[in-house]
Amino acid sequence: MPITENRYRYRRLFFAGVTLALSGLLTVSAWADRLPAQAVDTSETPDIAVRASDPDSKPLPYYSLAPDIYFLYGNIAEVDRRNRGFNGNAGFVVTREGVVVIDSLGTPKLGRRLIATVRKVTDKPIRYLILTHNHPDHSYGAAAFRRLPGITIVGHAGTLEYLDSPNLPASVAFRRRTLTQDMKGFKGVEPDILVGGEIHGHYDFTLGGKTFAVYNADHHHSFGDLVIYQVEDRVLWISDLAFNNRATFMGDGHSGAALETMDWLRKTFPDARLMIPGHGSAQTPPFPMVERTYSYIKRLRDEMRNAVEAGQDLESAVRQSDFPDWHGTPLYHENHKKNANFVYREMEQEIYFGGN
Ligand SMILES: [Zn+2]
Repeated sequence: MPITENRYRYRRLFFAGVTLALSGLLTVSAWADRLPAQAVDTSETPDIAVRASDPDSKPLPYYSLAPDIYFLYGNIAEVDRRNRGFNGNAGFVVTREGVVVIDSLGTPKLGRRLIATVRKVTDKPIRYLILTHNHPDHSYGAAAFRRLPGITIVGHAGTLEYLDSPNLPASVAFRRRTLTQDMKGFKGVEPDILVGGEIHGHYDFTLGGKTFAVYNADHHHSFGDLVIYQVEDRVLWISDLAFNNRATFMGDGHSGAALETMDWLRKTFPDARLMIPGHGSAQTPPFPMVERTYSYIKRLRDEMRNAVEAGQDLESAVRQSDFPDWHGTPLYHENHKKNANFVYREMEQEIYFGGN
């Protein structure tokens, strides 16, 4: 499959912000949106300023990765007022019978702008939205899609558990505080089709000659995670199973399941030609992001298992944990101690209770 040239050749948009300081001095600041020249096999990261005042009809920047396959490459950052929740990826595939969207971005407003982005490319109806997992950066735009006539929303069965959990009101309250305008119209969305049951079992559907195999990839990162394989194109949408050029975050999944799921991924899709993660650029074989994420999680598990077995307490084990070779990777400093804390407690469970 040829990877086509990025639709957005390197380009900059300049915006000027003018602030009248309290001192009465006029200060002028200028900043630029930065879009990588391409969104495949690059460590260049986007830095897109999303404005609350942008109309819903304004498309977001997107890349054409291959014929009919489009990719929205979100900022590598935590949620802030600059990215307004555009800190994860989404994508869509155009078939002759309609469009399949993968993930909905982080707010209803971004969901509406994602719909506008699809509209810029094609007037074919959006027939499916697949939510790879319940985390806000991937699923809070879904309310915008729920309103589209004839749409089928596919999600993991664990989504129902998430919708009933205290995690939902907590993260909605946080987003309503920081992104008030953008959260208007938010609703928890129950998928029409739930993928669950047997681990690595799959739900397949075909639209316009393209087959989408939606796999239950366990709950390695959330209440339930999916992996999607576009069979004819041999494209894998792996969600947050591996991160490209970003440190992982372990909060409510399971690190052991993450390693097992990556092993399964490598064995099951040896012919994949393109891998699209939930964060970071897309990648071609041999998909080094999988190896790198795997080695990080394995190393942290080994370190924390040794700490628990040696009788070291959680606080000092977390304080001492540091991977200097990861210092340059985006979000390492924000996530590593939280990951260490999470994995230490997992190791306690595994060692003392045999649980996982
Ligand atoms: Zn994510």
